[in-house]
This record gives sequence, C-alpha cells and structure tokens, in this order.
Amino acid sequence: MNDEQLIARRNRTLGPTYQNFFDRPLHLVRGAGMTLWDADGREYLDCYNNVVSVGHCHPRVVEALCRQAGTLNTHTRYLHAAIVELGEMLVDRLPGALDTCVFTCTGSEANDLALRLARTHTRRRDIIAVDHAYHGHLTSLIEISPYKFAGKGGTGAPSHTHIVPMPDVFRGLYRGEEAGIKYAEQFEEGVARTGGVAAFIAESLLSCGGQIELPPGYLQAAYRQVRAVGGVCIADEVQVGFGRVGTHFWGFETQGVVPDIVTMGKPIGNGHPLAAVVTTPEIAASFANGMEYFNTFGGNPVSCAAGLAVLDVIEEEGLQAHALQVGNHLKQALANLMAAHPIMGDVRGRGLFLGVELVRSRETLEPAAAEASHIVNRMRDHRILLSTDGPLHNVIKIKPPLVFSKAEADWMVQILATVLAEDACQV
Ligand code: PMP
Repeated sequence: MNDEQLIARRNRTLGPTYQNFFDRPLHLVRGAGMTLWDADGREYLDCYNNVVSVGHCHPRVVEALCRQAGTLNTHTRYLHAAIVELGEMLVDRLPGALDTCVFTCTGSEANDLALRLARTHTRRRDIIAVDHAYHGHLTSLIEISPYKFAGKGGTGAPSHTHIVPMPDVFRGLYRGEEAGIKYAEQFEEGVARTGGVAAFIAESLLSCGGQIELPPGYLQAAYRQVRAVGGVCIADEVQVGFGRVGTHFWGFETQGVVPDIVTMGKPIGNGHPLAAVVTTPEIAASFANGMEYFNTFGGNPVSCAAGLAVLDVIEEEGLQAHALQVGNHLKQALANLMAAHPIMGDVRGRGLFLGVELVRSRETLEPAAAEASHIVNRMRDHRILLSTDGPLHNVIKIKPPLVFSKAEADWMVQILATVLAEDACQV
C-alpha cells in the first residue's frame, strides 16, 4: 500500500478532524534515539518531539515495558509496588508539601483531575487561564483553553473562565525590563474582577503561546494574588517538566514558585500513555470526600514500569544537564544565525525548549506565518523535523528528545541556514 492509498483510507475511516504534519505527510515506521525512519527507509532527525524525551524506543524503557507486560497488568485496586515507587520518586523530586500523587493516562486527564481537586477544595468553580493556552482536549479543558475555544470551531469562553493576557515580552502589550511587573499588575486587575476563583492554571513556560519564557517574577506575583482570593495554583508541566528546561527539573522552579497542584504527562512515559497529578495533603484530604478515585488504566503496572525507567534514564544519562548544555549551544548558534537573517525576529527559550519567532519586519513585527510553514516543509525535505506554534503560527518550535547532541544541533542549524537563504525567506 502506498502513502496515497493510506491517506485515502485514513481520511475515510478517521474522518476529517485528524490532521497530518507537513504538505507531504510523513509515513513513519521506526524510531531510535533522535532518528525516525519512513516507509522507504529514509532517515529523519526529530527536532520537535518532546514526548519521547529520553529518545525514541529507548531500550531501557522498552525493556521495562515488555518485562512488565509479560508479567502482570492490572489496575490500582490491587497492591503493586511499581505505582508506589513511581509516586514516591515523583514526590521526592517536588518541593514543599507536594506529597500526594494520583495517576492518570493523559495530560488532559491530569488537568481535568487538577480542576476537580481545586474545585472540590475551594468549593468554587471559576478558573483563571492564560491567553492562547492549551490544557487538553476534554470538555472541561476546552472551556479553559483559548487556543481551542477562541480558535476555529470554538464557541468562546464560558462565564466561569477568566483569561489573562499572555505575558509576551516580544510582541505583547508590555515589553522590556518592566514588562514582568506590568503584566503582574494587569493580572491583579484580572483577579480582582473575578470575585474569587477555584484556581489559576498556567504552563510554566508557554508552549502553544509560542515557546515563551515568562518574565521574571510573573508567577510569584500571580500565585500571591490568586492565593489572596482563596484560589489554588496549578502548574501544567505536561510539556516542560522532566528536565527539559535544563536549569531545573520542573519549569515552575525557574520562576521560584511552589504550586499547589502540578500536572505532568507527555515525557513521563516516553510515549507510553501515562500522566500524573501531584498535590498537597490539604487538597488531597478535601478531595477524599467519599467519592472513590478510580481510573481503569491510570497507574497500571506496565505504565508505572515505563515511568520508573524514564526517571532512571534521565538520572543515569544526566539528561537535564545535557539539555542545558546542548540547549545553550543551540540557542547561541541560532542567535548567531539571526544576525544574517532579518526574518528571525526573536530566539528564545531555555534548555531544549526553544523558539524562533519569524517576522517580515523587525520594526512592525508583522508575523511571517507563510514563511514559517515554508521553512518547516523545506526542513522536512532535508529530513529534519520541526513544527510551528504560537497564536500567529510564526514561531518555529524546537523541542527535541533530550538526547539531542551538539553535532545534531549544528547540523540542524546548518540546514536551517540553507533554507533561510531561499527566496521565500527573504523579507
Ligand atoms: N497540557 C499541555 C500544556 C499540553 O501541551 C497538552 C498536549 N499538547 C496537554 C495538556 C494535554 O495532554 P494530552 O494530549 O496527553 O491529553
């Protein structure tokens, strides 16, 4: 069966809401480390997949999965050591009173559970979220995800959702040194208008927002204000947790805050559906109101075996420090490239969570979305996989598996320079 036939069957069976990456969809059949192979045996360098953070099909993770799948897989109403060990390891990696861990299968389930925890604890319903954020595909999360409810097919925000502006210091309302303080003031006005909330949820670095680092002090001010009106603070670490930012294991640590609830997903199972929520004993106690928590697949022994192996690999291979080293190297190389290419308006991010914002003019910041799409498709022709993000679709997102090497980073930058020299990228 060729790719055209597969596309036709896929469209017929899965329907039109599924999308494919790239103008020429890619049919992948195998992966290892940083490399993916298509059905014709061609190799690709995967520079944006943050789910398989310790590398595609890492042998340790695969072995752990296989061994446990061949031994036992049940649910959490039986005693099993793996779920306890993984919970303990996650809690050990978190600061403060974050000592209670609940397992789910996806980031969406984790965020939905976080909302339930917050609402049960505070007996309130309202949620503050950041503009352009995405927190998951469940109904409860579409309601707090401007990326969805304000996008194509969206039906707007319900009355219990309050959106604060994205603290974007590149093209947002406030820029430069004082921007963090100004965004915090604006946040305070937003909180004041709510009349009390259950929770504030935010990613610790903004992914769908366009690979944005929050200005220093932003979360500290926001958390203080939310707690002052009785709300709890949820850090969505589904994208940025598990060492990706290099300087810290969790994204929120870069902002010097301790959330009341942390949600995690994607990298926790290196591709296996596993996710978790960690919270404080007070919130956990409020949630234990007689209604049992049961999730058929969440925290099953096979998933937990994968999670334990992922944590071991991050530790043993020193992947957090590696992410910092390679990320710094890559960010510098991209900054150097920027000097020769006016279309590159901004290079930002931390560790291996980087973004390049493309503009048609560095004065007007007119977004270069068509050019961004051209670049991603041309990079694919050169067998380097990247993607775009941001509300204006003009940010190239770079978030490779953490095993990305300096040599691979140099290769990516070299090919990017070739593509940026094409006519379509001249502004
Ligand atoms: N939170 C964030 C920040 C995400 O990026 C995503 C997925 N893109 C989710 C939550 C939802 O995770 P999942 O797709 O595993 O349900």
